[in-house]
Amino acid sequence: MLPYDEALQIVLNTVKPLTPCEMPTADAGGLVLAEDALAQWDMPLCDNSAMDGYAIAGESYTPGSPLEIIGASYAGHPLSGTILAGQSIRITTGAALPKGTDTVIPLEDTEEEHGQLHIQVPVTSGQHVRYQGEEFKSGQLLLQTGTMLQAGEISLLACAGVARVKVYPRPRVSIISTGDELVELGEKPGPGQIINSNLHFLTTRLRECGCEPVWIGIGKDNTDSLDKCIAQAMDADLVLSTGGVSVGEKDQVQDALANHSFEKIFWKVAIKPGKPVLFGLLGEKPFLGLPGNPAATAATFEVFARPALKKMAGHRDDHLQKRNGILTGQVKNKGDRQRFLWCRLEWRNDQYEVTVQSHQGSGQNLSIQGSNALLAVPAGTAQMDQGKRVEVLLLE
Ligand code: AMP
Ligand code: MG
Repeated sequence: MLPYDEALQIVLNTVKPLTPCEMPTADAGGLVLAEDALAQWDMPLCDNSAMDGYAIAGESYTPGSPLEIIGASYAGHPLSGTILAGQSIRITTGAALPKGTDTVIPLEDTEEEHGQLHIQVPVTSGQHVRYQGEEFKSGQLLLQTGTMLQAGEISLLACAGVARVKVYPRPRVSIISTGDELVELGEKPGPGQIINSNLHFLTTRLRECGCEPVWIGIGKDNTDSLDKCIAQAMDADLVLSTGGVSVGEKDQVQDALANHSFEKIFWKVAIKPGKPVLFGLLGEKPFLGLPGNPAATAATFEVFARPALKKMAGHRDDHLQKRNGILTGQVKNKGDRQRFLWCRLEWRNDQYEVTVQSHQGSGQNLSIQGSNALLAVPAGTAQMDQGKRVEVLLLE
C-alpha cells in the first residue's frame, strides 16, 4: 500500500496555486501575496516630532538663553513659514517640523513663561525627530511574493499607501456528504441514522484555514444521486466528499466519479485512520474522497487536504508545521500502517508536552475536540514511553 509521505507528495505535485486576483488590501487579511509590495511614498512622509514639546533650531541654540514661542505645529495642522534663530514653536507628536527647526525639546524638560521658552536640560541637536524616509523609502520592497498577510503586514501596507494587492484567492472547497443514514443537525436521528457531523467539522475547519466551504448536500448511496452532487461540486477549487470510498457494496462514490471522467491517482494509503482515502482529478479539479468515519474524515482532511489547500492558497511552505514535545503518557500501537493520533500540545513546565487523547476510535468524535496536533506514529513502532521526545504535526 502507498506510504503516507509518498501519497502526500503526489497530492502536492498535482495541485497548483490558484490564479492570483487583485483586491482591496483591507479585505486581504489571511491571504498570501502574489506579487512584491512596494512602498508608495517615504515613511515618514516628512520630518516630524517624536514627542509633545517644542521645536527649535538645534545648531543656533545657546544653552541657557530663552527662546521666543511664535506658534504651534499640531499633528494634522502643520505650521507654514520659517522659524528663525532665537525662536521656537509648540509641537505635538507626529506634527511636521516647520522649516528652520530640526530638534525637539520634550514638554517635561521645559518651562513656558510670558511667551518665552526656558529649556532646563542639555540639548542634542536633532533629538526626538523622526526623519523623512527613515523607516522606508518610496519604491522600497516592503513584502515579498509569498508573504501571508496578517494584521502587521496589512497595517504596514496601509501606512505605505498600498491600497490594493495581488493575492492568491481564498480556495473555494465544495463538500459532498454521502450516506443514506445521514440526517441534518437539528433533526432527531431515527434508528440507524446519524447526524451529518463531518459536514460541520469540514465547514468549520475550512473557515479556520481561510477557505470558503460550499456545501453541495447529502448524496444518497446510489450513483444517480452522487452523480448530481459531483456535477454541482465541480466548479469549486477543490472537491471533498465524505464516506462511500471504502469497499462496502454501498460505497459508490468511485462508480459515480467514473461517469465524470475522473482520473484516479491513488486509492488507499497505509495510514490509520483513513486508509480508503481516494485522490484524483475531476477534469482539472483536485478531488479528495475522505473516508466517512469522523476521526478518519478529520485526519485525512488534516494530512492531505490542509497541505493541498496551503499550496493552492500560495503558501511557500505547504507542509503542516511540526513541533517537538515530551509525551505525558505511554502510547501503544499495533499494525503496519502509519498511525495518526489526536493529541494536545501544551506549554507546561518550560517545555511542550504532548498528551494523546483517549477515544481514538475512527468512528468517534471525542478525540478530535481539544486536539491541536496529530502525533504520527511510524508503522512498526509498537510503543512510545512517557517522557519520550516526539514530533507532532501542528493543526493551528
Ligand atoms: P462510509 O465511509 O460511508 O462507509 O462510512 C463509515 C462510517 O462513517 C459509517 O458509520 C457512517 O455512518 C459514518 N459517516 C459517514 N458519513 C458521515 C458524516 N457525514 N458524518 C458522520 N458520520 C458519517
Ligand atoms: Mg457510507
